[in-house]
Amino acid sequence: MRLITGGTGMVGSAIEGDLKIGSKDCDLTKWTSVNNFFEQHKPTEVIHCAAKVGGIWGNMNYKGDFFRENILMNTHIIEAARIHGVKRLVAFLSTCVFPDKVEYPLSEIKIHQGPPHTSNDAYAYAKRMCDVQIRAYREQYGLNYVSVIPTNIYGPNDLFDLENGHVVPSLIHRCFLAREAGKDLEVWGSGTPLREFIYSEDVARLSEWALKDYEEAEPIIFSTSEETSIKELVEMVAELLRFKGKLKWQTDKPDGQFRKPSDNSKLKKYLPDFKYTPLFEGLKKTVDWFEEHYPEIRTK
Ligand code: NAP
Ligand code: GDP
Repeated sequence: MRLITGGTGMVGSAIEGDLKIGSKDCDLTKWTSVNNFFEQHKPTEVIHCAAKVGGIWGNMNYKGDFFRENILMNTHIIEAARIHGVKRLVAFLSTCVFPDKVEYPLSEIKIHQGPPHTSNDAYAYAKRMCDVQIRAYREQYGLNYVSVIPTNIYGPNDLFDLENGHVVPSLIHRCFLAREAGKDLEVWGSGTPLREFIYSEDVARLSEWALKDYEEAEPIIFSTSEETSIKELVEMVAELLRFKGKLKWQTDKPDGQFRKPSDNSKLKKYLPDFKYTPLFEGLKKTVDWFEEHYPEIRTK
């Protein structure tokens, strides 16, 4: 019986599972609900995707919520899994966990080597503690639980909030609205920062692999290790949405970290032939999904 937490979210909805739950099915910040849920459904394996997730704006403006909700969800899920005899568990971290000042590329051993970037430190510390909890439970209870670190994920069923979404979903939504209204497209920052984007269905396939075959105490990075500038990303989104207007760079909005290149050599060692969805192709699928489902999209 495979339980997917965050099953109503972008990544969770792309993963195969017997039980896929969202916050309405079980509020993971409440211990009694989580404990009762495990008691009733008795999952044997868990992919824990649920989290309070947001882009740079949400992370900067709701630090208390991001810290509290994430630390509670992770603590509860891992503890309930232990008590109720779950054999395998995969928990999601994020590249935000890495120190701000660190030698690039980011690799699995560098997580705790300095404070995270201030723009998302509350979320990052809560996620770092998930790594600490998993290692502690492996040592004390001999549990074969693992964690994974994907880079910037995008895909169908993302959170398309204009303010609190990640860059891909926010831009798709804003570009769509600008096209419909015949207006300019407002883009945050300078366009120079670099990010590594990965398609949600690739992350889903990789996490299903990790559940079966990844057994190390150290997390594993899920990344294409290909950097794209925000400017290049905007150009692709504009092309896919047939946007003909002008771009307006809002340089008063934050750029965040300039880049966070990651080292995917560990994953490559395990899966040398893994085929990633090329960015333009993944963006096309995401834009098509958005246009097909609008206005029935997640924004909150
Ligand atoms: P998402 O689309 O925002 O989905 C979040 C999921 O968490 C939803 O199913 C939501 O349920 C659930 N959730 C939130 N609060 C909850 C609560 N109190 N109780 C129960 N469920 C709750 O997230 P995602 O983008 O798929 O991210 C999946 C995982 O990957 C997260 O752990 C995230 O930290 C990690 N990650 C994401 C990215 C990225 O770029 N998106 C990058 C690296 C790592 P409802 O919708 O039903 O409320
Ligand atoms: P990050 O990778 O954790 O920093 O998160 P994001 O997915 O929010 O990416 C942030 C980068 O995209 C920053 O350089 C922003 O300046 C840039 N960006 C441009 N437009 C937007 C937007 O509409 N929303 C977000 N979240 N970021 C944007």
